[in-house]
Amino acid sequence: MMPEGVVTLPDRSIEELEDRGRHHVERTLEDCHRLIPRAEAAGDIVLLQRLRLVLADATTRRGRIEEAAQLVREVQAWAEARRHDYLIARSNRLLSAVFGKLGDTALCLEHAVAAVHGLNRDWRPSLRADHLRALGQALSFLGSFDEARAQFEDACRLTETADARIVRRMALNDIAYCEVLAERGPQAAAAADRMLAVIAAQGGRPGYEELDTAAAAYELVGRLAEAELMLAPVVDGLGADTSFSDYDGLVGCLWRLARVQRLRGRLDDARASLDLCRTRARELNSVVALEADYEHVELLAATGDYENAYHSLRSYHERRKVLENEQRVSRAASLRAIFEAEEARRDSQMFREMAERDALTGLHNRRFVDTNLPRLLLEVAEGGATLSIGLLDLDHFKRVNDTCSHAVGDEVLRRIATMIEESSSCVPGGVAARLGGEEFLVILPGIDPGAATEHLEQLRRTVADAAWRDLTGSVPVTVSIGCASAPDDELDPSALLHRADQRLYDAKDSGRNRVVGPHPGAVEVAG
Ligand code: GH3
Ligand code: MG
Ligand code: MG
Repeated sequence: MMPEGVVTLPDRSIEELEDRGRHHVERTLEDCHRLIPRAEAAGDIVLLQRLRLVLADATTRRGRIEEAAQLVREVQAWAEARRHDYLIARSNRLLSAVFGKLGDTALCLEHAVAAVHGLNRDWRPSLRADHLRALGQALSFLGSFDEARAQFEDACRLTETADARIVRRMALNDIAYCEVLAERGPQAAAAADRMLAVIAAQGGRPGYEELDTAAAAYELVGRLAEAELMLAPVVDGLGADTSFSDYDGLVGCLWRLARVQRLRGRLDDARASLDLCRTRARELNSVVALEADYEHVELLAATGDYENAYHSLRSYHERRKVLENEQRVSRAASLRAIFEAEEARRDSQMFREMAERDALTGLHNRRFVDTNLPRLLLEVAEGGATLSIGLLDLDHFKRVNDTCSHAVGDEVLRRIATMIEESSSCVPGGVAARLGGEEFLVILPGIDPGAATEHLEQLRRTVADAAWRDLTGSVPVTVSIGCASAPDDELDPSALLHRADQRLYDAKDSGRNRVVGPHPGAVEVAG
């Protein structure tokens, strides 16, 4: 049976998953682990690859960069081999994020440029906005803040509709954070106010990154009390939308809180916040740990404990050297892993299997038939058994496309595929394949011509009697089938297919919605 065949994931929700970003990362991971096996079982390869990129994105946000990078590289290689523009562009977008996290600004920019360059104007605005954000981020890493801001503003303009609100939030955060990096206080504070207003208007609360951005902006213009008021609740796990955060967002907020408290002269509170920050940073192996060490130095100096500040500063510099070295090593390891993954992909059983599946229906494809029919016929020749095939073509299928829509046409093909799959699975070793367009092949090993004709007649009736009205209205859906058998008709694969094709043609010629086979009793029209 094919039933998992059609993955019931309407386009809308895969798009929602793609747009989710740092929103609900845990839920996204769960969704991916649930949906990926279904897409795999259905042979819906494009959906599978889209889901794997969503998984890679969420994995990146959980700090597992190497794992994410491998996934993206695999998808990218698949997409490039098939010139699948959407997946190529998405892969570039995610690789840009991966290299950004790895600190490789050149590769980050290269992939961001490719992600934007590969955009198609017909793709949804939220997706285009997301790619512009990647380019903006790469530019801002390089210190090109004006160019970066221009990308982010374009992204904002693309995300004014309700369905793009998550991407919009992220673009507004990008703008404010970019101004913070540029140290342009008034612009940063204005952008932060704008972001917070939009979040409030959407009925949401800021996540950790957004709180940190806003507080950093306020710090630049001396709005320290506001910054502290906003951040203080995070100590108790309050004040932020925790479903809207990267994995060490809280650590960043605690660091910022400690800093703001120190700047306000509230040193005891600052120490408490910083202790919490350093503990969490160590637990998560967060990059914020080093900044927290430096904040510790500042705090000691602020309390007048210059001796300890001096020692802490020395050990900060040592740790920094060690960490930078570790990062270099781990970056090299990540890159090596990324390239090794590509080799592994070539050997992967899964990809070999998928290459033999049809993306729309999940049935076997022509390649599968080309490699397996000769083998089956060889067994017939050697073992004296029989094998029959049915070549099936939809009748007046163009009418369905023209009268209803291409999407309805696709759904008709999927439903027919299910019927064919069910019919062929009644026969041990039976195969159902889509050869292309609206042409299908059924292989029935061990079935003689008479039984095959009956079997296919049953399938024809199943199609003709199915409830199509809800889908195609008054347009009927029927099939014509040509049946041929080995060894009676032919033993050579292409000769056998040709014989079935002639009989299919006869079935069309004599009125359609019928089976033509070699067996007397079926409607056999003389050539
Ligand atoms: P006939 O009974 O003679 O076979 O008539 P027909 O209209 O089915 O024949 P024809 O081969 O001229 O048209 C086949 C149509 O199938 C044309 C093409 O647009 C459509 N088609 C092929 N592949 C797909 C597909 O994947 N999805 C959809 N919706 N339509 C497809
Ligand atoms: Mg047809
Ligand atoms: Mg046809």
